[in-house]
Amino acid sequence: MSDYLPFTRPSIDAATIEGVAEVLRSGWITTGPQAKAFESRLSQYFGGRPVRALASGTGALELALAIAGVGPGDEVVTTPLSWVATANVVLRAGARPVFADIDPATRNIDPARIEAALTPRTKALIPVDMAGLPFDRDAVYAIARRRSLRVIEDAAQSMGATWNGRRVGSFGDLACFSFHANKNMTTAEGGCLVLDDEAEAARCERLRLQGVVRLAGGEIEVEEAGAKMNLTDVAARIGLGQLERLEEFNARRRILARRYFERLDRSLGCGLPPADFERSNWHMFQVLLPLERITIDRARFIALMHERGIGVGVHYPAMHLFALYRAQGWKAGDFPHAEHVGASIVTLPLFPAMQDGDVDRVCRALGDILAAHCR
Ligand SMILES: *Cc1c(COP(=O)(O)O)cnc(C)c1O
Repeated sequence: MSDYLPFTRPSIDAATIEGVAEVLRSGWITTGPQAKAFESRLSQYFGGRPVRALASGTGALELALAIAGVGPGDEVVTTPLSWVATANVVLRAGARPVFADIDPATRNIDPARIEAALTPRTKALIPVDMAGLPFDRDAVYAIARRRSLRVIEDAAQSMGATWNGRRVGSFGDLACFSFHANKNMTTAEGGCLVLDDEAEAARCERLRLQGVVRLAGGEIEVEEAGAKMNLTDVAARIGLGQLERLEEFNARRRILARRYFERLDRSLGCGLPPADFERSNWHMFQVLLPLERITIDRARFIALMHERGIGVGVHYPAMHLFALYRAQGWKAGDFPHAEHVGASIVTLPLFPAMQDGDVDRVCRALGDILAAHCR
């Protein structure tokens, strides 16, 4: 399986590897000048907004919740179709995640259903840009303004995506990005929080490192218990090399996604993602398997693709059906759209180093397997 095609793989260039080696040799490997430089490049990228680099996207969500003042007794409305981090952070803040179903066309939270999920306890919304397709900023922010709610954008997957021609993260309330190895740009593990106010950025900076405040004269003070979520210089140096190439990476992803649309046989009955080449950063190319038309289940489909040397992922099962969330009263039938997508979705290979022919190979394998197991 030397030509095994994974569903994703990061592209780290030689200059970045050399840069990381220099950092390792420099004698300063944790948070320092590289992290500072990375933050300043990120801030430029987001139109000058304050940015703080963090150890993970989950960390960004946790600090955003703290900054939004979300705690015990509060509710946060979010989507059931996301990586489980999105709702776990709400529980860890001592608050209650309240799910609102997705719009099956976009696979993002349905703004109309957010309205129905609001209560007097709602303090914030966490909409997610699933697969890098931006959630409807106009509709979500209209609700947030009307109800005085904070918006914590889970933009973990949407680095480089745009809404009405503006970069995700360059406007709006708190925006959380992840630089996990599978995301469109990576620091191996890492993330950042984009804020809209210098005072909140200063709070974020304290909260990411034990709550420490540095005073003039070299003294320190601590007024609240912070976390340990700083980004290392080793990671930041990877991020600097990646950010430089992000537009190129995303352009390549877009070309490959277009090719999927051209090559996928529509008669197979797979549910396709929205053909959005304007706003999405094509973090993932995901189709819904026509399970009602075939005799195999998703696990078998994935195993058969694997036998043909092709990696397929599942992102994500509907979150409210995990034991943790069932224990809080959520159950099958609560969110039919998220449940249908969560049960039938598969992530096909898509990453910048893929060749056009790889897309053709995936489409052929998918076509063969579905055709061979037709009801
Ligand atoms: C990756 C991801 C996260 C978490 O980011 P980490 O860097 O892995 O902590 C949160 N939400 C979504 C939607 C993600 O895809």
